[in-house]
Amino acid sequence: MTKAKQVDKKSLQFLEQYINNPSPTGFESEGQKLWLEYIKPYVDETFVDTYGTAVGVINPEAKYKVVIEAHADEISWFVHYINEKGFIYVRRNGGSDHIIAPSKRVNIHTDNGIVKAVFGWPAIHTRSGYEKEDTPKLNNIFLDCGCNSKEEVEALGVHVGCVITYEDEFMVLNKNYFVGRALDNRIGGFMIAEVAKRLKANKKKLPFGLYITNSVQEEIGLRGAEMIVQRIKPDVAIITDVCHDTQTPLINKIEQGDFFAGKGPVLTYAPAVQNNLLKQIIKTANDNKIPFQRLAASRATGTDTDAFAYANGGIAAALISLPLRYMHTTVEMVHQDDVLNVIELIYQTLLSIRENQNFNYIQ
Ligand SMILES: [Zn+2]
Repeated sequence: MTKAKQVDKKSLQFLEQYINNPSPTGFESEGQKLWLEYIKPYVDETFVDTYGTAVGVINPEAKYKVVIEAHADEISWFVHYINEKGFIYVRRNGGSDHIIAPSKRVNIHTDNGIVKAVFGWPAIHTRSGYEKEDTPKLNNIFLDCGCNSKEEVEALGVHVGCVITYEDEFMVLNKNYFVGRALDNRIGGFMIAEVAKRLKANKKKLPFGLYITNSVQEEIGLRGAEMIVQRIKPDVAIITDVCHDTQTPLINKIEQGDFFAGKGPVLTYAPAVQNNLLKQIIKTANDNKIPFQRLAASRATGTDTDAFAYANGGIAAALISLPLRYMHTTVEMVHQDDVLNVIELIYQTLLSIRENQNFNYIQ
């Protein structure tokens, strides 16, 4: 079988729809419904938890359980303070970047639907000495929704606590790079769904229960994963998230390492990563000629891997990352080849896991 060089059309359609749908941390439900709809034909059953983490299950009766996981939430802003002139100050919901805010168009999510607004910024002409001028900060960026008073803003349905997302939508650059908001990590939700789709298409039977898990609330501290791991109680967890491509300007490789979008999935070394599972993933990559890169994490991986590894007395966990440019901007970029190779690597690794396989270091 020759390997696909492009994501197939139907899958790409779903990806575009999924990325364009806002999914702010804590408010992911609409995106989760889209994802569940997409994955349903490829799994035996689905379930959700109280906060909206969504799971598709293959072989739900099996005792031995393997998770493949991504996170579904998108960084966003909260309406924090509306001043008497009708300008809105914001709080972060996740690691939203103040530097990119000025001049962006946004959607404020209200009970009456979307209210449009813009991050304003004083004109260049009105700023004296702009060599050492103020840069955008959390306390000087503000939204303008075309109102002249707090009352007018409130009449639109905007109140403190409304979430705010950017308008920017999905696109493809040079037929190779997918671009969009919060590809971190909805591209992961897409990839694990594609694994399920491939298992179904190739009529593969697994000797374990597979839990395809799209967790909420990663961006504020791995919270969705912390919740769902206790419900599933898996034996093995393969996590996918994004990491930094470090080839673009202004990134220090001594600090950030040397990673290329387009050169394959990134495999992390860290105490939370179970080495026997990692070795099996590396062997799988080599056996199937899937390129990969290596990353060393200091202490924690900072991904849902940590939440899975350290739960329920310890779960064999590993992290397969996708190199991404411009993390937490509205133009996050990933290479299509890497997307296909992460799908392939997770798929082949699942096929390599034996019935009741014991990953313990000391046997
Ligand atoms: Zn993130």
